[in-house]
Amino acid sequence: MKRILITGGAGFVGSHLCERLLNEGHEVICLDNYFTGSKKNIEHLMDHHYFELVRHDVTEPFMIEVDEIYNMACPASPVHYQYNPIKTIKTSVMGAINMLGLAKRVKAKILQASTSEVYGDPAVHPQPETYWGNVNPIGLRSCYDEGKRCAETLFMDYHLQNDVAVKIIRIFNTYGPNMNPNDGRVVSNFIVQALKGENITMFGDGSQTRSFQYVDDLVEGTTRMMNSRDGFTGPVNIGNPVEFTMMELASKVIELTNSTSKIIHMPLPQDDPLQRQPIIDLAKKELNGWEPKIHLEEGLIKTISYFDTLLKSDQ
Ligand code: NAD
Ligand code: UDP
Repeated sequence: MKRILITGGAGFVGSHLCERLLNEGHEVICLDNYFTGSKKNIEHLMDHHYFELVRHDVTEPFMIEVDEIYNMACPASPVHYQYNPIKTIKTSVMGAINMLGLAKRVKAKILQASTSEVYGDPAVHPQPETYWGNVNPIGLRSCYDEGKRCAETLFMDYHLQNDVAVKIIRIFNTYGPNMNPNDGRVVSNFIVQALKGENITMFGDGSQTRSFQYVDDLVEGTTRMMNSRDGFTGPVNIGNPVEFTMMELASKVIELTNSTSKIIHMPLPQDDPLQRQPIIDLAKKELNGWEPKIHLEEGLIKTISYFDTLLKSDQ
């Protein structure tokens, strides 16, 4: 049994991770400032004997005795991370410094939730971990992209200079239950709009591509990375290589919800990447053959059911 700190534990991915690690019999401390996360996501864990909740902001130092740290705190949706860009970059950079300082002090292993956004609008397709990326340093997405790139640098420097055991995963677009309905990301937007019979907001012509993984596959990859061999730091891509256009995604959501919604086109946001697809050979090799198991349709059905229940309970 380990004592594990999860920053951003009340968020979409963090809440699934809390549940998974509690189920494995560990003691879990969930730290969150509730910017985009919600107590609702972890409500069902509150009575668990080995679960603790701490309201805290990772931009401030935090001290606790733990064996492992999953550093997930950071708003992930463009709408939320662009709301206060300075805070976003502080969360990534100061959050990394504070959590790495803690890991160094208590000799904890620490995992960083990095992102495919470190590849920016990629000029190499699909993306291997060796690609250095194509990121605009002064654009609307920079607070997130550059914050995460700097966090990766900090993780590697703490490892090389202070021998901290670090693990870095680059997460590609992920979806599933516990996403915030007002999150602004494409899967939650399309599903909520389809369920309400509202227009589906397609940014641009919808030919841009993404590769979406279901949250359970991400959680499996994340825990395998934490338990990977000593000295393996990554970064390692964790994502589903099945790539599709946003138009294809909208059609699938409309079909599965049996919705009467119509697709309307809106301007493509600045620096919106045209394409994105992970190469996952490194994850397969280092993480005991890890690969995504859940197909888009199966994952969408589960996510639609989650939002359907949520919207009905709000009425
Ligand atoms: P989310 O917004 O649902 O969760 C982030 C959590 O961090 C929230 O609970 C929020 O309240 C908390 N938080 C934000 N700033 C904080 C701060 N300063 N101090 C303490 N807590 C803070 O996002 P998510 O999708 O669950 O993403 C989790 C992590 O995974 C993030 O680091 C994100 O960058 C990374 N990631 C996610 C995706 C994805 O598709 N979901 C893709 C790439 C990377
Ligand atoms: N998108 C869209 N309609 C929406 C929200 C997003 O067409 O209501 C597009 C967005 O422009 C991008 C893709 O869907 O091309 C994925 O957007 P998301 O914000 O989910 O993730 P990211 O751009 O960070 O990969």
